[in-house]
Amino acid sequence: MIQAVKKLVQRAGLRRQHLEAARMYGERHALAVAAPFRSPRARGRILCYHSVGQPEFGVNDVTPSRFRRHIELALEQGYRFVAPAEIAATGGGPKDIAISFDDALKTVLTQADPILREHKIPYSVFIVSEWSEQKHDWEKTGVLGWRELEKMRADGVELGSHSATHRDFGEVDVERAKREFEQSRNTINERLGFTPDVFAIPFGQSRNWTPCADKAAREAGFTTIYAQAEETRPPGTIPRTFVTRFDDDRIFKALLRGAFDRWEEWTWTY
Ligand SMILES: [Zn+2]
Repeated sequence: MIQAVKKLVQRAGLRRQHLEAARMYGERHALAVAAPFRSPRARGRILCYHSVGQPEFGVNDVTPSRFRRHIELALEQGYRFVAPAEIAATGGGPKDIAISFDDALKTVLTQADPILREHKIPYSVFIVSEWSEQKHDWEKTGVLGWRELEKMRADGVELGSHSATHRDFGEVDVERAKREFEQSRNTINERLGFTPDVFAIPFGQSRNWTPCADKAAREAGFTTIYAQAEETRPPGTIPRTFVTRFDDDRIFKALLRGAFDRWEEWTWTY
């Protein structure tokens, strides 16, 4: 009996994932057509990727060939790749673009890094400190470990914090938030010998951050806080544009034009 219920729940979960992915696919195609032009931006754009060839991460995963295509499309359109920190600090120019990765997943190093290196493109990676401890099997195979991150940093990659355990900061109380900030900073310091001052908000959309979390993050020592949204981002945060696995040439070009600047991933609740 319990097994049967478990199976039903599991199936419902899978069905929900499929529905969400189908909705996202539909929305992104529709917006790419319906919002072909927006007024030109005054500032640069920071792209937010996750994995590049780890399909288990679903909508967050972009295949290596598609990732390469995104870089080529941006270059063809006259964009100039700069470090995310440059856009965060100055706002950048309308043709400035930057690359960042959340979650510090393996394929950033194995798949994306060679492509970025080929084009001499700087990038940033945001670490979930407990995931990079690799205590679980999926972390050992899917997440970058400290030795890999140390090497990347030596090669010029900017590393920041993405919290200790990837909580939704729109949901946790301020004490828990403080522990997350301190733990991630301490662990990164112990493992890599530096304390990060940049932070990317887990999930990173309007409902995943609060003024209390923002205050606690800044008190903990974070000076730059990245969202995963553009116009709907929480106040005081640096905008980033979320890139999804559905972003083919047409959608990616629309993304560069700002078609998704008011779009958020999780607008539906069940
Ligand atoms: Zn994340």
